[in-house]
Amino acid sequence: MTEQQLLNAGYRKYSGEKIDVFYSKDLCEHVGNCVKGSIDVFNPKRKPWVLADAKSADEVARIIDTCPTKALQYVLKEETPVEITIEEKRVVATKDGEELGEMTFVNSNDKFYIIDHTGVYDAARGLGVGKKMVQAFVEHARTNNMKVLPLCPFAKAEFEKNHESYADVLHS
Ligand code: SF4
Repeated sequence: MTEQQLLNAGYRKYSGEKIDVFYSKDLCEHVGNCVKGSIDVFNPKRKPWVLADAKSADEVARIIDTCPTKALQYVLKEETPVEITIEEKRVVATKDGEELGEMTFVNSNDKFYIIDHTGVYDAARGLGVGKKMVQAFVEHARTNNMKVLPLCPFAKAEFEKNHESYADVLHS
């Protein structure tokens, strides 16, 4: 979700230098993965309870990815946005012309796409590149009236995490 969508959905924003953290107390089930991940960043006994800069942006993003309810979300701040291009058989992420990762797919009889691989280069980890490629590809599938079968474990996990937003394109 974009920052505006998160705010519209009632999330509260905690700004950091390289990452903004968003929290919805309505979705939080107090499982505590965030606190276990880092008490420096997520401390319910402190105000504000989230300090987005208390760890590196990558580490904060990694911890937020363990939140099972999506009560915590993040938006990474980038100097130049990551660009996603959809080619005939792959989705490519680039920044300043440099390739950051790719996701490959096959078109099955013009009925559905099969995502068979998602790879992000080490230097680009923590920028949410994989997530962005899946997001862009879901949009692409929607526009082309196609379904998606996410065979690659990363894409499959993204579909599970975003079940509500991606259910309409999931091939069953
Ligand atoms: S990990 Fe998510 S659901 Fe669990 S306590 Fe933290 S914010 Fe709430």
